[in-house]
Amino acid sequence: MRARYVSDRAGAGAGDGRRSAESAQRAGGLVGAALCECLGIEERTAGGAGYALTFDDGPHREGTPAVLEALAGADVRATFFLVGEQVLRNPSLAAEIVAAGHDVGLHCHRHRNLLRLTPRQVREDIDRAQAVIEEVTGRSPALYRPPYGVANAAALALARGRGWRTLLWSHWGRDWEARATPASIAALLTAGAGEGSVLLLHDADDYSAPGSWRHTAAALPRVIETLAARGLEPVAP
Ligand SMILES: [Zn+2]
Repeated sequence: MRARYVSDRAGAGAGDGRRSAESAQRAGGLVGAALCECLGIEERTAGGAGYALTFDDGPHREGTPAVLEALAGADVRATFFLVGEQVLRNPSLAAEIVAAGHDVGLHCHRHRNLLRLTPRQVREDIDRAQAVIEEVTGRSPALYRPPYGVANAAALALARGRGWRTLLWSHWGRDWEARATPASIAALLTAGAGEGSVLLLHDADDYSAPGSWRHTAAALPRVIETLAARGLEPVAP
């Protein structure tokens, strides 16, 4: 069973994983939304209305506060897909995300391409992340998003068994790239975004270009304003 974004390049490294996910996304239109639905992978808001802001890879010592500040400035709620090992490094920030009214989802414990892991390693990684997130935030995640958006059968079955929605995204700003700017992120993220869009961003640079979160945080006001001008409001995914 292959997910929409699953790559054949099982030996791909972290950076390659992102590229594989990207090329798979380009080919995704050929696979179609029906297969995604069959596999239990979602990439739209549950209600099909508004748009959802999602942030992966945190919490991060500097990136998360910068993003939280930008969201508070716009009075907007978002979902943070947390990395267990980063929650352990920055527990107070994980708690702060929840205290500010945002939702948390589960990304992983260590940020690895699942295609390189055995089913047992996948389960151990997800178990660890779930335990850490629940312990530190007091919340049980109901949303799951695998690293690089690359799922495998073991992860999908686990998520389904625990009653989680596996949520990828419909739009990204490529904010992890060194060449990204606030303008390029906002333009890419909002191009074609409409009712039900799920937007992918990152509040951390541990698996991205150094300092990338600065551009992400700076892009947020422009993203929110652009979508508001289209009559779109941020909603929970
Ligand atoms: Zn990630």
